[in-house]
Amino acid sequence: MKICTTIDEMRNESRAARRAGKRLGFVPTMGALHEGHLSLVRAAREASDVVAASIFVNPTQFGPTEDLAKYPRSFDRDRELLEREGVELLFAPAVEEMYPTANGSGGPTPDQSLADRSVRPTQNTWVTVEGLSDKLDGRSRPGHFRGVATVVAKLFHAVEPDAAFFGQKDAAQVAVIRRMVRDLNLAVEIVVCPIVREADGLAMSSRNAYLDSDQRKRALVLHRSLMRVQDLAQAGERDAGKLMYTGREVFAEEGSVRLDYFEIVDPDTLDPVAEVSGGALVAVAAFLGSTRLIDNVLLPSA
Ligand code: AMP
Repeated sequence: MKICTTIDEMRNESRAARRAGKRLGFVPTMGALHEGHLSLVRAAREASDVVAASIFVNPTQFGPTEDLAKYPRSFDRDRELLEREGVELLFAPAVEEMYPTANGSGGPTPDQSLADRSVRPTQNTWVTVEGLSDKLDGRSRPGHFRGVATVVAKLFHAVEPDAAFFGQKDAAQVAVIRRMVRDLNLAVEIVVCPIVREADGLAMSSRNAYLDSDQRKRALVLHRSLMRVQDLAQAGERDAGKLMYTGREVFAEEGSVRLDYFEIVDPDTLDPVAEVSGGALVAVAAFLGSTRLIDNVLLPSA
């Protein structure tokens, strides 16, 4: 596996592969890899001649009070896992490569909130997917999807993949990326892979590592609430309001878990739906202590 740390190096490798007629699949990650990430790598492996993965903890998608500094980092282990999966190219840039910093204090910062963050990018151009970036996680985490869309656009330009693989785990992110690709006519196929779960139903996440054993047990309430709603929908309940009420009620039983949102929305627009017969995304986010977890389930159209 070739490790590229600069954009030029990465682009040279991927252009060489594509010139040789190879189809290039790309899996962007923030590292701390688990089976969810590896499922994307395997899907990319199946569908591509050459697989590129990236490991980059993107500072611009973290809010000033979020977990950027303590986000789990395990580069050596991640590199071994990717090598074992047969990944040919690993893009692992430093923050300065993706967001060159101003020398001293003179450089422009894009806005006040970013000035508080641990990076001060000399970056004036941002990708904002209007109408989507402020829904679900975007509402709870202002600026998050601007950071995500911007870094994914930058990664796409560094890697120039034919296809990129994302997890349904981050359902709002999927909607944002799909819309960005469509609106900007990017020549990348977006492939979305199912949520990989622990045996007891908890969606795999790098942030699960933050949970103590009591929180780990309580975290099952996310999955339990989704299953309750899915069962009700399968039994014929179409009313999104009633389904949401039921989902929220499950959280009331687990007092120490703070619900951030429990919503039923259109998976493409992320707008609330009144009833679920056309298919719907049931999405939940909740805090266990300071750890924020998300999960979701897609209800098929009836
Ligand atoms: P992250 O490292 O958290 O940025 O995630 C990188 C990619 O892995 C994203 O496309 C996520 O949606 C995906 N991913 C994370 N957890 C899971 C999971 N449990 N199942 C499937 N995909 C996942």
